[in-house]
Amino acid sequence: MTLAASTSAAGGPAGTRLRVPPVLMYHSISPSRQPDPHRVRVHPARLDRHLRLLRRLGLRGVPLAELLAAHDRGAAGGLVGLTFDDGYTDFLEHAVPVLARHGMTGTLYVVAGRLGGANEWDAGPRLDLVDAAQVRAVAAAGHEVGSHTLTHVRLAGADPATLAEEVAGSRRVLQDVLQAEVPGFCYPWGDFDAAAAAAVRAAGYDHACVTGDYSPGDRFTVPRCYVAPSDTAAHLVARLARHSLRVRGAGA
Ligand SMILES: [Zn+2]
Repeated sequence: MTLAASTSAAGGPAGTRLRVPPVLMYHSISPSRQPDPHRVRVHPARLDRHLRLLRRLGLRGVPLAELLAAHDRGAAGGLVGLTFDDGYTDFLEHAVPVLARHGMTGTLYVVAGRLGGANEWDAGPRLDLVDAAQVRAVAAAGHEVGSHTLTHVRLAGADPATLAEEVAGSRRVLQDVLQAEVPGFCYPWGDFDAAAAAAVRAAGYDHACVTGDYSPGDRFTVPRCYVAPSDTAAHLVARLARHSLRVRGAGA
């Protein structure tokens, strides 16, 4: 079983299919026993088992920006993308220590207009979101911070003004907070269309990721593997293998 996708194809312009290693998608990392109706919470002990498994397989988890930069150099073999959506404060408390233990880093996708707020876009349990100081702490700990829009809106079918505000506006907010370039974007609910992807490109991002492990997308629709709260190491192996088969099935 080949877990790492071929890295022979160099990073190309929009529309070029990317054959990159799998990118795992987590959300909340917490030992909380609150209801989890949207199935977005993975226990830190389970994340620890997942990362231990990756190490046993000779894989290292990195932020998506680092994965794509390695891909561009033809050096993405042995890497896996680790991403965490929505910017919950539990990332700092519970994910960062586990990642550090395994020498890994990831991308936190932050809802830039809700810093210090909560996940009001979801009906269900309220989860705290990182504030500006915590965004800086995430970056200082070696992780990537990416944009997940200003207000966690659906972008497919959005009018041009909304697209510009949510996509470009969120990048400006985060770059102002970080005083650094923000290269990565993540579509809320994985919801995108051609106009949304064009807006991401126009805003100056380097890449964007979606939800779902489809056949390879281009640099602005990088697919990801959802990790479920109950995923064992065996489930994770199956998800990685399925990704590998899809990438190979997509042809050279
Ligand atoms: Zn989200």
